[in-house]
Amino acid sequence: MTKRRPLIAGNWKMHLDVASAAALAREVANKVSRARHCDIAVMPPHPLIPAVARVLDGSPIGYGAQDISAEEEGAFTGEVSARMLLSLGCTYAIVGHSERREYHLESDVLVHAKTVMALKAGLIPVVCVGEKLAERKAEKTLHRIRTQVETALKGLDDSVGRVVLAYEPIWAIGTGLTATPAQAEEVHEFIRGVVDSMYGAQVAEKIRILYGGSVKPDNASALMSEKDVDGALVGGASLTAESFAGIVNYGD
Ligand code: PEP
Repeated sequence: MTKRRPLIAGNWKMHLDVASAAALAREVANKVSRARHCDIAVMPPHPLIPAVARVLDGSPIGYGAQDISAEEEGAFTGEVSARMLLSLGCTYAIVGHSERREYHLESDVLVHAKTVMALKAGLIPVVCVGEKLAERKAEKTLHRIRTQVETALKGLDDSVGRVVLAYEPIWAIGTGLTATPAQAEEVHEFIRGVVDSMYGAQVAEKIRILYGGSVKPDNASALMSEKDVDGALVGGASLTAESFAGIVNYGD
C-alpha cells in the first residue's frame, strides 16, 4: 500500500492585511519548518499572496489560493485565474469551499470546472466536499458526498492523482463542533471507495483526503490517526502560528 504524505493546510479566509499576513507567515515558518512528516501550506486571501510568498519562498512551506476562476482569462470582473496564481508561485488552490458554495452559489458543476482548470494550469486543487447538518440528520451524508466527489472528479485524465480532497462537514466548520475520528473515517473511507470506482485502486490509494472542521491542536492527533485521514484543512486555528504549529506537530 502506498504511504500517503499528509498535508496540513491553513485557510486564512478573509483575515489579515499585508503586514500581519507576512508576520504570520514568518512565525509559522519559524515554528514548523523543521517538520518533516507532512507537507505544509497556507492559503492567504489573493492580494496577500505576494507578501506571504516573499516570506515563504525557499522554505518547505507551500502556499496557495482560496479560490480560482473556472475561466482561463477574459472579461470576468473580479475573478483571479489559475495562471495568475501560478505566476505568484502558488502550488495549491482550494476549490469548492463550503463558504463559496453557500455565499457565492457555487454548484458541483462549477467546482468541477475549477478543478479541471487548476489541474490544467499545474496547480494542486484542494477540492472541498461536505454535508449540511440537515443532510446528516436525514442520513443523506454519503449520498451528498458521492454526488460532490463524482461530479468534481468526472472525466479527469492521469492528473487526477494530484487532486487533494477535503472532507469538511459544514456543521463542523467554524462552529467548534468536530466530527469524531470515527465519523470522519467513515466518510473518508467512503470517498476513497468512490475514487476507486471511478479511477481504480491505484489512484484511490494515492489520493490524499484531508479532514476539515474545527481542527485544533487537541483533536488533530486522534483525527490524523485514522487510516484514511491524510491531513487537515484548518480554518480558525491556522490564524495563530502557535495553534497551527500545534496541529502540524500532531505526532509530538
Ligand atoms: C475551513 O474553513 O476550511 C475550516 C475547516 O474552518 P475551521 O477550522 O475554522 O472549522
